[in-house]
Amino acid sequence: MRDHVKLFIPGPVEVSPDTYAAMSAPMMGHRSKDFTKLYADIQPKLQALFGTKQQTYISTSSAWGIMEGSLRNLVKKKVLNCCCGAFSDKWYDVSLRCGKQAEELKVEWGQPILAEQIAKKLATGEFDAVTLVHNETSTGVLNPLEEIAKLKQQFPDVMFIVDTVSSFTTVPMNFDALGIDVLLTGSQKAFAMPPGMALFAASEAAYARAATIADRGYYFDFLEFKANGDKSMTPSTPCIALIYGLLHQLNKFFAEGLENRYARHAKLNSMVHSWVTKHGFEFLAPEGYRSKALTCVKNNKNIDVAKFVSLLKERHKIAIDGGYGKISGKTFRISNMGDETEASISELIAALDDTLGAL
Ligand SMILES: *Cc1c(COP(=O)(O)O)cnc(C)c1O
Repeated sequence: MRDHVKLFIPGPVEVSPDTYAAMSAPMMGHRSKDFTKLYADIQPKLQALFGTKQQTYISTSSAWGIMEGSLRNLVKKKVLNCCCGAFSDKWYDVSLRCGKQAEELKVEWGQPILAEQIAKKLATGEFDAVTLVHNETSTGVLNPLEEIAKLKQQFPDVMFIVDTVSSFTTVPMNFDALGIDVLLTGSQKAFAMPPGMALFAASEAAYARAATIADRGYYFDFLEFKANGDKSMTPSTPCIALIYGLLHQLNKFFAEGLENRYARHAKLNSMVHSWVTKHGFEFLAPEGYRSKALTCVKNNKNIDVAKFVSLLKERHKIAIDGGYGKISGKTFRISNMGDETEASISELIAALDDTLGAL
């Protein structure tokens, strides 16, 4: 049996030994030629993943750093925070904590945010920014990003800020075609890396807006990222070990092929979905809006979720999540993102079957 508990929680997820090995390369100076070469090697690969000709950036922070930074760089008037679960709800709270005018567009946990709901709010003319969580990790809802992004044409002066932390690299992403202003993600979800690094891209309009805002701060200043990025550097000393790991993971993604990677995530997700329906469970998210990265199972059978989670860990050294915040126990969540394979998900499913039988 494994020597450690394997994570099938929706982040952090399991990190492969080859990724840890890549991260243990010798340290280098962050203003050295060696570093600018590493950065420049990574840049086109990240641009291909983001679907952009814009620069992409590496931030030494978790995703929240850029989620907060986006507000500080881009909100002048008032931000509309689309709220449909724990992460998107918290973004509203963070807006207020940054001293921004903010309003929630709230739907019930488990429901998606629809383009027409956003359009109605933006039509008031009150807002100059909107935040959206693409894949709401707490509820397993995948919001209709393409339809929502089309609103940018109707509201060109509104900054569209999108968190793709738990969807990035599980479904295709095309920043330039979407026409949005910020797309951000983090290292510990589908990238299958340790936490501590965020990645993002920004539009020309975003830089123009940032230039009109005086209190952007320093650490997450988009214009600092751009000026340093022009020289293949970061504003401050970055998480160099994670960047070695990033290059390694990117090489794995492209060796597999991006289309194959998206197909693999869809296939593994459908394997978990089959387990759910086989046992008579339901999904929290409605059909058509379900994540490809994780499954949020509705506990319609009223099992003891806490016991299920702890027994699974005891018997199989596997961790799943017993539900987030106010839907803890009423739901549970199983991740299929990262380096998982049909074999490893089959093993997970056998363990879930065994544990459910032992409850
Ligand atoms: C995990 C997650 C975050 C938070 O990421 P941190 O790394 O904790 O900052 C934000 N948004 C979504 C959708 C997430 O899944």
